[in-house]
Amino acid sequence: MNFESKLVNAENLIDKSTGAVNVPIYQTSTFHQFDIENFGEYDYSRSKNPTRSALEEVLKDIENGKYAFAFSSGMAAICSVLSIFNAGDHIIVSGDVYGGTYRAITKFFSRFNIEFSFVDLSNLSNIKDVLKKNTKGIYIETPSNPLLKITDIRQVVKIAKRNKLLTIADNTFMSPYLLRPLELGVDIVVSSATKFLGGHSDIIAGVAATRDENLAKEIYNVQNTFGAILSPNDSFLLLRGIKTLKVRLDKATSNALELSKYLKTLDKVSKVYYPGLKDHKGYEIHKSQSKNGGAVVSFEFKSKEDTIDFLNNIKGVLVSVSLGGVETIVSYPVKMSHAAIPKDEREALGIKDTLVRVSLGLEDINDIIYNFDKAINK
Ligand code: PLP
Repeated sequence: MNFESKLVNAENLIDKSTGAVNVPIYQTSTFHQFDIENFGEYDYSRSKNPTRSALEEVLKDIENGKYAFAFSSGMAAICSVLSIFNAGDHIIVSGDVYGGTYRAITKFFSRFNIEFSFVDLSNLSNIKDVLKKNTKGIYIETPSNPLLKITDIRQVVKIAKRNKLLTIADNTFMSPYLLRPLELGVDIVVSSATKFLGGHSDIIAGVAATRDENLAKEIYNVQNTFGAILSPNDSFLLLRGIKTLKVRLDKATSNALELSKYLKTLDKVSKVYYPGLKDHKGYEIHKSQSKNGGAVVSFEFKSKEDTIDFLNNIKGVLVSVSLGGVETIVSYPVKMSHAAIPKDEREALGIKDTLVRVSLGLEDINDIIYNFDKAINK
């Protein structure tokens, strides 16, 4: 079945007992056991819930994996996956990862004697500089957040396999419609489903998926132990959001390309980062592993004054944390997504106080450009 058909494959979701075309919200914590010697499929909703199971089936299919797990947030998925490592392990991590991931690694996992090295994975030779005897994994985010740096997933997988390392990819920015890391050999894909998968800025959710049975057992063990599960109600909303992933992203990515071209014409803007532009560093690599440039554009103003003016004056869009909704969301990484990274480290990574990130929504592009123009050239 082709990807778009998998998104709306209603047959999977038909309720077997009533024929209802959507899986009901099984708002229950526990399940009555009719036979004390042979428990039914469900016993307690932390372990398994029918609405979440239906969602996990869809997620497994669209990631082209064999197993998927739905978590209460993207961070819950990421932290649960990182919890399969042991004290003494060393993990190599993409330099400009999402600020929350950076915080989880530096402030939480480091307390349990797990070591991390942050390196710019857009340059593969950086990997061998930090590779150690106890290195057990490589954590990729491509395009990275917020500078949209590109990592060559196939090459990282090659290096990882040669050194018997696990590969994990955060695919939040692309979603499985635009990029499927498991097909490129990555062991575990994680995503914030709060973003494009959910698509309506109405839930916080996360996903982890894999093709490997043993890894799936370990992830399930953490999911069931920590219990950072997605609720039945949010599982239902995520199932609903996923059905329109393709049509939403087709529109949002075309808007992103148009906005990035417009931004390039502006005198007040010094840099535009968008993996769909031919002059973006890593464009060819990105093209070889993804369907298109995605729906996120970052750009830098020449001055901080212009940056603040723009953020205070832009109308017709949201100025907020997050991305991936039906509405265009403008965010300010140094105060929002990357505030958790200390200023000097942030600046060393190239995340300046003149940087703005835009997640394109489904509005008419002429309205978006009109509003940007008014705020920039007011
Ligand atoms: N990964 C990336 C790339 C993100 O941008 C985010 C949130 O912005 C997360 C993970 C965390 O997801 P959540 O906010 O659903 O916990």
